[in-house]
Amino acid sequence: LPMPELPTPVPPRRRTRQVHVGPVAVGGDAPVSVQSMTTTVTADVDATLQQIAALTAAGCQIVRVAVPTQDDAEALPAIAAKAQIPVIADIHFQPKYVFAAIDAGCAAVRVNPGNIKKFDDKIKEIAKAASDAKVPIRIGVNAGSLDKRLLAKYGKATPEALVESALWECSLFEEHGFSDLKVSVKHHDPVTMVRAYELLADACEYPLHLGVTEAGPLLQGTIKSAVAFGTLLNRGIGDTIRVSLSAPPVEEVKAGISILESCGLRQRRLEIVSCPSCGRAQVDVHTLAEKVAAALDGLPYPLRVAVMGCVVNGPGEAREADLGVSCGNGKGQIFRKGEVITTVPESKIVETLVEEALRLGESLAAE
Ligand code: SF4
Repeated sequence: LPMPELPTPVPPRRRTRQVHVGPVAVGGDAPVSVQSMTTTVTADVDATLQQIAALTAAGCQIVRVAVPTQDDAEALPAIAAKAQIPVIADIHFQPKYVFAAIDAGCAAVRVNPGNIKKFDDKIKEIAKAASDAKVPIRIGVNAGSLDKRLLAKYGKATPEALVESALWECSLFEEHGFSDLKVSVKHHDPVTMVRAYELLADACEYPLHLGVTEAGPLLQGTIKSAVAFGTLLNRGIGDTIRVSLSAPPVEEVKAGISILESCGLRQRRLEIVSCPSCGRAQVDVHTLAEKVAAALDGLPYPLRVAVMGCVVNGPGEAREADLGVSCGNGKGQIFRKGEVITTVPESKIVETLVEEALRLGESLAAE
């Protein structure tokens, strides 16, 4: 499809090294990619693959699976082979699972060295295995599992403590000539998290994976992540993102895509522009907007569709919409590019908008 230019000037991206998570390039000039993590028991191969398929359909580009047990490690070959998107194995306590993940064909491994006892002794072997298999490693530092030494030094998980931990872990790999690294310094507080990533961005050239950890339920987690990622991405910082939510992981993917679209880093497919309603509204705008959004969900055209509560201000307020409706007197004035093209009863608004959206989308595609 011909895609229009991105709507806003895109901020220059921070210069980073580039790594490849399977076929997905991360860092360098690659677009920011969206990640999520499965919530199934990884050893349940069918359930995990089913969830990965749903995440893929929602637009997820890289998926992470937890590997806390031997059974999970043994499931990795089947999952890595059958998943439609690259799989990252998330290893917390057992270096032996890192080797298992690399052997299984996982596209990357995430380690939290603060959690892997005697990890330092194993770094050389891990670096060699990862290097031989061309598998990048993500150094994932988390406020909740910060190295005890740094916790003692800083008193708590400050931005400086998170960054010192991450850089130290990176240096352990660098000593063995391994630099296919991607780094994260997650914190549950967006302000601390933003500061940590700013410091980290200044201190290294590795691509960064953004995350506000334990961000909370859908609304709170999305807002925290949107504020933090928006601040960083607008400064060019961030190469992959994961919105961590206490919600089904498909919601994480939708939120992540929406954040990238809102930052001007990704072209929107469909945008619903709906008014908040006010005392002039002559229709239940909230319900109508929900219905229109649901009816047009998945429409593969980059259309901006407006749902406005009154005919007085609606078309003017939605002047830049491709298509829209303004309501009044039990009717909907359907407009295209600011011009009213028809007026329909309220009960026909949704179906008329869908018909017009398809017509407009197809004509765009034919251009
Ligand atoms: Fe109010 Fe009309 Fe504006 Fe909606 S479009 S907020 S109903 S003035």
